[in-house]
Amino acid sequence: MTRASLDTTAVWAGEDDLRLTGATTVPISLGVAHGYPDFEHWQAVALGQAPGHIYARNTNPTVEAFERKIQALEGAEDATSFSTGMAAISNLFFALLKPGDRIVSARDTYGGTNQLFIDTLPRWGVRVTLCDTTDADAIEAEIARGCAMLYLETPTNPTLKVQPIARLAAAARRRGALTVVDNTFATPINQNPLALGADLVVHSATKFLGGHADAMGGALCGRRDLVRAVYHHREINGASLDAMSAYLLLRGMKTLALRIERQNASALRIARWLAQHPRVERVNYPGLETHPQHDIAAEQMRGFGGMMSFALKGGLDEVRRALPRFKRLHRAANLGAVETVGGPPATTSHVECTPEERAAMGIPEGLIRYSVGIESADDLIADLDHALAG
Ligand SMILES: *Cc1c(COP(=O)(O)O)cnc(C)c1O
Repeated sequence: MTRASLDTTAVWAGEDDLRLTGATTVPISLGVAHGYPDFEHWQAVALGQAPGHIYARNTNPTVEAFERKIQALEGAEDATSFSTGMAAISNLFFALLKPGDRIVSARDTYGGTNQLFIDTLPRWGVRVTLCDTTDADAIEAEIARGCAMLYLETPTNPTLKVQPIARLAAAARRRGALTVVDNTFATPINQNPLALGADLVVHSATKFLGGHADAMGGALCGRRDLVRAVYHHREINGASLDAMSAYLLLRGMKTLALRIERQNASALRIARWLAQHPRVERVNYPGLETHPQHDIAAEQMRGFGGMMSFALKGGLDEVRRALPRFKRLHRAANLGAVETVGGPPATTSHVECTPEERAAMGIPEGLIRYSVGIESADDLIADLDHALAG
């Protein structure tokens, strides 16, 4: 059989062995431990030599279905899961790096990741070099100086900058460095970093994968030896995904392809509409031909995603005025849901930064991050029209 399309994979992958007695869904397996009457069998499972589960901090049947589904969607050799996206990101650093190592990354990364780069990792003797996010030459030059890991996030949060995965992963490979890509914004429907040469892909499953803002989770996909190493770190450090969340994420992922298709189409329409609005200073959306890295995005993405941000003329005062006027906007520090969600970075992704730090990162105070939901694009445009007018 030929490899199933991503639409089909999103519905079916990972579940076959786990449906019990013909049930249509994977059960929520809440048992903390699995028991075995036979010593030899028990030991074989415990040593990983036979299939099965021992203790839920390590593995769990519902969680395993989630891992197999994201693995299939990313076309990965292996996958493991975490309680949150940040647990995935911090576990991969602590499992794969050691004191004296150097990471090359960019100034624009998710706020929590940036915090690990500027505070936590240096305290553990890991050197971090953060480059201008869109200066691929500068990033390549830093890779050439030698590093253990290249860490990319593309498109970035919240200004939707795009980095050339294939080019930078090839540069890292030449220097023997691993490439990790945070694929949360694009999702595997729009972008598969492993196929572009990355070694590992990390996800906040809390966002588009789950899609309903009701469960947190993280995932790591890629080369088996690396995923196993991070899994063994996680099973001890304890940041495991729970079965209830895994079930909700699995259920959400069945509609991932449908949701992303709608969100891609609506976001492109909305971005074009905002770009000609007199009160909007700039729109950050990789699908716009005017986006500085539009060509790179068009090359490595199948769709441009549901995330955008736009800056209002008049800065924070305008944001304060417009925010309460929205009727179809969940004003919250979340993204990737079926509902349209938005807010200024000063209260969401970059709340831990000062206005000066945000300015240095190119994040104006008048910016609104806008995560397009699955509502009708006409209704969302009408809502934006009302909020920005007056
Ligand atoms: C939300 C987010 C994270 C962190 O995920 P949590 O599930 O909130 O821990 C990491 N990267 C990106 C791009 C995100 O949007």
